[in-house]
Amino acid sequence: MARDPRYDILFEPLAIGPVTAKNRFYQVPHCNGGGYRDPSAAAEMRGIKAQGGWGVIFTEQCEMHPTSEITPFIELRLWEDQDIPMIAKMADRMKEHGALAGIQLAYSGINGPNFYTKEVPMAPSALPIRTFTNDPVQARALDRQDIRDLRRWFVTAAKRSRTAGFDLICLYGAHGFGIFQHFLSRATNHRTDEYGGSLENRSRFVREVIADLRDAVGDSMGLTLRVSLDEITGDLGFGNAEVRDFIEMHSDLPDLWDLAHGTWEDCSGPSRFKEEAAQQDLVQGIKALTSRPVVGVGRFTSPDVMVRQIKSGILDFIGCARPSIADPFLPKKIEEGRIEDIRECIGCNICITGDMTMSISRCTQNPTFMEEWRKGWHPERMNAKGDSSSVLIIGAGPAGLEAARACAERGYDVALAEAQSEIGGRVARERLLPGLSAWGRVVDYRAYQLSQKGNVETYLNSSLTANDILQFGFENIAIATGASWRRDGVARQHVSPLPIDPALPLYTPDDLMAGSIPTGTVVLYDDDHYYMGGVLAELLVQNGATVVLVTPSAYVSDWTNNTLEQASIHRKLAMMGVDIQLNRGVVAIGADHVLTNCTYTDVTRPIPCDAVVMVASRIGNDGLYQALKARQDDWPDAGLKSVKLIGDANAPGPIAWATYAGHRYARELDEPDRGDALSFRREITALAE
Ligand code: ADP
Ligand code: SF4
Repeated sequence: MARDPRYDILFEPLAIGPVTAKNRFYQVPHCNGGGYRDPSAAAEMRGIKAQGGWGVIFTEQCEMHPTSEITPFIELRLWEDQDIPMIAKMADRMKEHGALAGIQLAYSGINGPNFYTKEVPMAPSALPIRTFTNDPVQARALDRQDIRDLRRWFVTAAKRSRTAGFDLICLYGAHGFGIFQHFLSRATNHRTDEYGGSLENRSRFVREVIADLRDAVGDSMGLTLRVSLDEITGDLGFGNAEVRDFIEMHSDLPDLWDLAHGTWEDCSGPSRFKEEAAQQDLVQGIKALTSRPVVGVGRFTSPDVMVRQIKSGILDFIGCARPSIADPFLPKKIEEGRIEDIRECIGCNICITGDMTMSISRCTQNPTFMEEWRKGWHPERMNAKGDSSSVLIIGAGPAGLEAARACAERGYDVALAEAQSEIGGRVARERLLPGLSAWGRVVDYRAYQLSQKGNVETYLNSSLTANDILQFGFENIAIATGASWRRDGVARQHVSPLPIDPALPLYTPDDLMAGSIPTGTVVLYDDDHYYMGGVLAELLVQNGATVVLVTPSAYVSDWTNNTLEQASIHRKLAMMGVDIQLNRGVVAIGADHVLTNCTYTDVTRPIPCDAVVMVASRIGNDGLYQALKARQDDWPDAGLKSVKLIGDANAPGPIAWATYAGHRYARELDEPDRGDALSFRREITALAE
């Protein structure tokens, strides 16, 4: 199919200084939890985006000098010539299909604790290091010689970047993370010399660095500057009005203005708190201040919204991080007139947890993310079909849906049986909870894909038993029957059931999602710590309950620190009037109260209430699997070759774990058993001479 002419504007080339991007799809720098530890995995991930048609592809932040690094987070490093091959590999892969390869040079200043290099951090002013973890480290102020050194280090890093094959350099001054912002902001720049005070003075450092880089590499490389649209740090912050003054004052300074939002939490806001194009008001009008092109982000997944951003003169390039993770082939699909095939980002921020937990990233929508090299998984192509021909998948939650989609893609005859009257499993229910509607895209994308395939049949209202299955004659069975929330309180505080008086009405998340919602005073006990407790507290308040949220953690929805939404959740609940009781557990449930305990002193206190909501843990629904296993002797007569338990039924986890399990099932069907071999390729640091 040909592309719709109304999207033509997205495919117009545009110059960035001395180089030209082939289209307007601009993958802004984004982390991936792999970085210097998994360089080939990270390089291949970028290469897949090149295949997918992005015009500009950037690295994650690249630490450009050992005097500033953000251990424990794993990004890239360019400290010596011996780092060049690693990033050259990435540049090569980025450029394979005509994209411009960009590197983001980061000097973290007030944000770099230097735990690894043990160097004393340097920043415009002497202040405590500003990290997520309140590290007990302070930076000293750069003196004039330090500033001269730092300028030279930028030049050296730029030259190394050119040697590695990059076309673009992004100078990082956004999210509170980059030294340029630290100079620009009065919050972090208290200097009284020519680098502090007036905006003119605070801009001096970035002017000098860009002038240096123009001399050194500007003939062949485009120089971009990434600043935050609004540093939300009280009155002293580099706010939106001052950002506009700065750009007006220096309109042609970089070859492109890259406009991010305040902190990383603001910029990568989850769909629970931020809509697509949420930054529009902050960006609007900036393009008129400069003759240079402007890129901005906003979790853009809709080509119509993208076109509007360009036609209405807000942006020149459509910046995407998460949308390019969820669908590396987003540009190609628009180009080929396959809009319906776009796998839209759901804004869950699971990808970010890979960086925050220093593991390697996952994506809920795209299970192949960061497995392109490790496992050879391609987001758009499956491996060839194996020897058998049919698969029955039981359960149409995220695991079953992804298994069905991917098995069908491989060419198997697929039957998908679902007990309920609609597909989606947990996502069909959770998408109806406050703030989670975008998560429904997990189902919508797969429902459409399945509808386009001739080799998949979906059977609703089909609650299957082992007997049914043995009569059908399918060769392979995947059991994706999900999980149920426990009523007995077993989770982390309690590894065995709590004493519970049955007189007090007790609800699980499943009950609430099924529409049974208590009123009056409700104690919500959250020993799960991800989103469910906080979301249900909202739901209860919306339904008129008075909510006391009790959690043994020091934070409400603790794990959402990793999805960058913990502060937003606490703020929202507090403003809705939820009584948040932190560092408190539950020791017993009485007839008219919940007996709580302090997690430090164990001192107990009853909270009188009309009902309790137990957000504890889940149990996999593996009954059907166990029943089939018990009849293994009957399998050969039934023509059954394999039975596998996948997703939440196997071990409950976030939705991303379920789509991954479904995808992995499809990839490995009929494949030779690898025995004890590692299931992925891995890179090991070479020993030095
Ligand atoms: P996952 O996250 O692993 O995909 P879900 O809980 O979202 O799990 O989905 C599991 C789905 O399986 C639910 O929609 C449920 O109705 C369905 N299911 C459970 N048991 C059966 C069964 N015996 N036959 C058919 N469908 C089932
Ligand atoms: Fe989007 Fe979630 Fe995938 Fe991140 S993990 S790209 S937020 S769908």
